[in-house]
Amino acid sequence: MKKCPYCCSTKGYYMMERVRRALHFTFDDEPDGATEDVADYTGRRKYCRECGRILPREKGGTE
Ligand SMILES: [Zn+2]
Repeated sequence: MKKCPYCCSTKGYYMMERVRRALHFTFDDEPDGATEDVADYTGRRKYCRECGRILPREKGGTE
């Protein structure tokens, strides 16, 4: 797939990833950094970066 079939954008696509991160605070309620992002869930669907629509799977699709 070289372009979005909906809007014909060639900008590319994105996939959603959900991450977990802990925000640290001192007991004085001052922000004190955060942990590294840990991937919680990674989606397999591809979304057009331009219009945000879910792109059809590549194999077998003739539309
Ligand atoms: Zn698009």
